[in-house]
Amino acid sequence: MQADIVFVGAGLAARIAALRLAAVPKPPRVLMVDPSPPANHTWSFHEHDITGQDRRWLSPAIAHEWPGQEVRFPGHRRTLRAGYATITPESLPAPNVLRAKATHIAPDHVIAGQRIDAQCVIDARGFAPHPALEIGFQKFLGLEVELTAPHGLTLPVIMDATVAQEGGYRFVYLLPFSPTRLLIEDTRYADTPGLEGLREGVAAYAAAQGWQIRETLREETGALPIALSFDAAAFWRGAEVPRIGMRAARFHPVTGYSLPDAVRSANIIAQHWQGNLGAALREDAIARDRPFYRLLTRMLFRAADPTERWRVLERFYRLPETLIERFYAGNTTQADMARILIGKPPVPILRAIRALPERRQNA
Ligand SMILES: Cc1cc2nc3c(=O)[nH]c(=O)nc-3n(C[C@H](O)[C@H](O)[C@H](O)COP(=O)(O)OP(=O)(O)OC[C@H]3O[C@@H](n4cnc5c(N)ncnc54)[C@H](O)[C@@H]3O)c2cc1C
Repeated sequence: MQADIVFVGAGLAARIAALRLAAVPKPPRVLMVDPSPPANHTWSFHEHDITGQDRRWLSPAIAHEWPGQEVRFPGHRRTLRAGYATITPESLPAPNVLRAKATHIAPDHVIAGQRIDAQCVIDARGFAPHPALEIGFQKFLGLEVELTAPHGLTLPVIMDATVAQEGGYRFVYLLPFSPTRLLIEDTRYADTPGLEGLREGVAAYAAAQGWQIRETLREETGALPIALSFDAAAFWRGAEVPRIGMRAARFHPVTGYSLPDAVRSANIIAQHWQGNLGAALREDAIARDRPFYRLLTRMLFRAADPTERWRVLERFYRLPETLIERFYAGNTTQADMARILIGKPPVPILRAIRALPERRQNA
């Protein structure tokens, strides 16, 4: 078998790249190799996470969008004007998939039951632990449900942290897809990836809102990595095959979201797939390394007690909207950093100081 580009893995990063490649003047022949059926996910992003230009080629993949978003904390509620959008596996299908597991990957071929030769092979196999990366977890269980009566929401609730703080920073995430259909997700920033108690959390939240579930349509679960320490140079050393997505540790260190980075990588692939793509992706990843965000996650995980972690987020959500937009987009400026850190920290000061240094690992 042959193709111009083979993606190993047909997940979010590969699909976004394929969509971008379909828009280049002479689209390459793309093949994806993946043994698994499509993931049962929604993939969401904030309006300002991507540029207007990227929004144009990505727009056919958007299944739902909303003109704002809400957050709720015990002492503070806020409606933010930044839009929010969601992609689904159906709205972003994978083109041309060979259902097979790759057992060997090289820059010019893949073995997946058979040999597949390609001008360019891209490793998009999803997250794998790495000694250069130390993580905590954002774990969640979400049910997409049909209610017996309207829920009354018009905007997504990105964080409802007015719930009991159990098992780490806990909040409920709500995506209203129709007046009676919504995704209810119980989420925790936790030290361990186990999902115990989350299903009960969703049921209890729905009951507390007075919502009666007529039918559960879909369930999604995840334990996304949250980066505490990362040694980018060690991570990328010796990487022979170009990597994208979670495989390349291209995710927001605080949220675990990888969609904005997948869009960046897609642009790089469209430009460099016939050249030195590995170097172009590596340089971009190292240039976009975000030690400041990892400092914040260490504050959250190491300086704050699990049941007090919500205070860090409540304080953050009192800051100016443009700062919040840049934060999610991974474009936090030096001035934003100062603004985020200045003032009385919502965590014990001695523990905050101890959480400052980032551990470098010998990978
Ligand atoms: C339930 C859930 C919800 C999420 N929501 C969001 C969100 O709203 N916004 C956001 O930005 N991020 C979200 N994320 C985080 C992250 O963006 C996703 O995990 C995203 O799918 C990562 O994309 P990826 O392409 O790197 O990996 P994946 O989408 O995980 O794809 C990797 C693919 O590689 C395949 N594979 C693995 N090994 C092999 C092999 N040997 N041979 C061939 N194929 C192989 C796997 O079967 C898989 O299909 C979510 C994650 C989860 C789990």
